[in-house]
Amino acid sequence: PPQRPQIPKHQFCADLSQCLFDFVVQLLPTAEELAIKEDVRKLLERLIRTIEPDSRLLSFGSTANGFSLRNSDMDLCCLIDSEDRLPATDLVNMLGDLFARETKFHIKSLPHARIPIVKLSLDPKPGLPFGIACDIGFENRLALENTRLLMCYAMIDPARVRTLVLFLKVWCKRRKINSPYKGTLSSYGYVLLVIYFLMHVKNPPVLPNLQQIPPMRPISQEETHLNGHNVWFFDDINVLRQRWQSSNTESVAELLIDFFKFYSRDFTYNTGVISIRAGLLSKESKGWDNDPDKGTARERNRLCIEDPFEIDFNVARCVTRDGLYTIRGEFMRASRILAARPERAFIALAQLCE
Ligand code: ATP
Ligand code: MG
Repeated sequence: PPQRPQIPKHQFCADLSQCLFDFVVQLLPTAEELAIKEDVRKLLERLIRTIEPDSRLLSFGSTANGFSLRNSDMDLCCLIDSEDRLPATDLVNMLGDLFARETKFHIKSLPHARIPIVKLSLDPKPGLPFGIACDIGFENRLALENTRLLMCYAMIDPARVRTLVLFLKVWCKRRKINSPYKGTLSSYGYVLLVIYFLMHVKNPPVLPNLQQIPPMRPISQEETHLNGHNVWFFDDINVLRQRWQSSNTESVAELLIDFFKFYSRDFTYNTGVISIRAGLLSKESKGWDNDPDKGTARERNRLCIEDPFEIDFNVARCVTRDGLYTIRGEFMRASRILAARPERAFIALAQLCE
């Protein structure tokens, strides 16, 4: 067949941006779903307080960071503000029994896991078509902080940042490259890839680096550190909105196209470490390259994404050689689909998420 002339890039991008917004909007959780989840949190908090009166149950992960999709799971963290609290193992066992007695949830206690948790789930029913899945962990204060950091990034430029992140979350789930247990990357890892790209790859940047903006008043080490990790970042979004305006005017579609391009051909996977805190780092400088004493270092550090606060921790350590190969293959596939610029942008979206 005769080749049709490709539609101009600006026209394709305008069309694709609109499609992305429309696509993402219908995937946001409904007000009803959010209300049900908040009721669940309150109910569980009330029950936990019958055992530990000084406890609070807080949301983290996507339900609290602005990147939640319809029917995403609930990540909850229990904080106990008293000195003589029960060991996590005992607490997990007691809470498991209590929830089993007092609620309709299916319960699974994992008291001996690396991070002890209680898992709760509710089967789907009318009015709750996907059920509920919820994990309760304990004293995970760093997760609360990184959730707050991501939330601030989501709020700085919601139209572009949230749209990109939400789309990529759907895309990586549909393409089956979002299972740390099977050697691919967690949602948290993908969000860090997007923030890194917008902050350190795009020039001019779409996002400021909140961890590098100096505080407005002197603050002590006690205020900035948590379990030995510096968790300080500029979190006054109102001030930031007045003072910081990105001079990058690219559309969400242009950013998406470049995101896939960057991670399919430009990022130096063999030597580079993605750090939203400090920009591009080397595996060597972090001791994440081939360390002869740690035979598994190479296997654990195929893909390196530094946690924003726990900087010795590679968020992508679960990604295997095959997993990375698959992920990179998917970035290339996505790049190819977008470069072909089908006449109607929604066709590109449908192909991407096939
Ligand atoms: P989803 O909607 O797919 O559940 P999510 O935003 O909740 O996505 P998760 O990957 O479930 O993302 O992570 C939830 C939270 O758990 C993160 O905000 C982070 O605090 C913590 N977390 C998850 N994975 C890691 C990891 N590999 N390293 C460190 N913290 C992690
Ligand atoms: Mg989650």
